[in-house]
Amino acid sequence: MAIIVFAETSENQLKKSAFEAVGFASGMATDAGPVIAVCIGPVSNAEALGNSGANEIVTVEYNGEFQAENYAEILAQICKNNNAETAVISNSYSGKSIAGRLAVKLGASLVTNVISMPDTSNGFRIRRSVFSGKAFGWVKVENSKKVLAITPNSFEIPNTGNTASISSFQADLSQVPNHSKIVSVNKVSGKIPLTEAEIVISGGRGMKGPENWGMLEELADVLGGATACSKPVSDMHWRPHSEHVGQTGITIKPNLYIAVGISGAIQHLAGVSSSKVIVAINKDPEAPFFKAADYGIVGDAFEVLPKVIAAAKALKA
Ligand SMILES: Cc1cc2nc3c(=O)[nH]c(=O)nc-3n(C[C@H](O)[C@H](O)[C@H](O)COP(=O)(O)OP(=O)(O)OC[C@H]3O[C@@H](n4cnc5c(N)ncnc54)[C@H](O)[C@@H]3O)c2cc1C
Repeated sequence: MAIIVFAETSENQLKKSAFEAVGFASGMATDAGPVIAVCIGPVSNAEALGNSGANEIVTVEYNGEFQAENYAEILAQICKNNNAETAVISNSYSGKSIAGRLAVKLGASLVTNVISMPDTSNGFRIRRSVFSGKAFGWVKVENSKKVLAITPNSFEIPNTGNTASISSFQADLSQVPNHSKIVSVNKVSGKIPLTEAEIVISGGRGMKGPENWGMLEELADVLGGATACSKPVSDMHWRPHSEHVGQTGITIKPNLYIAVGISGAIQHLAGVSSSKVIVAINKDPEAPFFKAADYGIVGDAFEVLPKVIAAAKALKA
């Protein structure tokens, strides 16, 4: 039986999460069947999904803005047409808003925050993170139909060398109720999206004011990363809310998270503690962040950052 994967796109390009989801599905596929990746709306590099393990790629003509109701209906139609019992979606903001709706349409069980490949040695068990990443739990799914929402940056992207066939699908959206309407869309463009970034440079109240963010942006530019911030920083409008990470903000899992002038409150750590390597820069040696960090620099950010930027530039050169 086929596995349907929602391959998320942004600005006509596949997102990293699309490759992760396809790679995850191809890891399951020996038991579960061919992997069919679905791209909704214009996309210029759909064929690249073959190399991550897709057997088939289905492109769906769709011209409007993202609407979870429409996307869930499109995916449900493709699942039904292919008798697919498993759908894989990234646990991104868009993915989360589709996953529940899709599960209802398919009569499927939904598992969000998935962080492991399933264990099928005795039924179907899968691991998910819980309590904002502070713990994990095993879920046993007894329903043959499943929607699995996988945590971004948790799975390697395979390099299979496959070439996938590409076909198109015309969805019928006439029965989708118009409960909600997109009124306006503000897109951040020209920057690495925070959830996709391998390196994140983040600032807290210790940066003293928005006028000092130039140093963090410069370090992010040199390292090819994105910038983030603590909640008070976005609450005070020093930085946009789209950069706020933590329990009430975005959850990220970059390879490198550099926290500058951030105390390391538990609510902040909830969104960043799964980062592979954490570096904390703080003038207070007792700052809680040092307990969560792999490397710590005790010092004034305004003295330390110029040295870190200079070292990063030298390394890049
Ligand atoms: C329900 C709830 C949800 C929350 N959700 C979130 C969330 O999602 N994300 C989040 O971030 N917070 C969240 N918070 C707030 C959280 O509890 C902390 O208050 C917040 O993270 C603190 O932000 P901060 O570290 O930037 O500021 P502060 O706590 O003020 O810390 C500033 C740090 O900068 C250091 N510093 C000062 N000057 C310098 C300098 N010159 N050089 C180097 N270091 C310096 C200080 O030593 C200090 O450690 C939440 C709180 C609640 C109650």
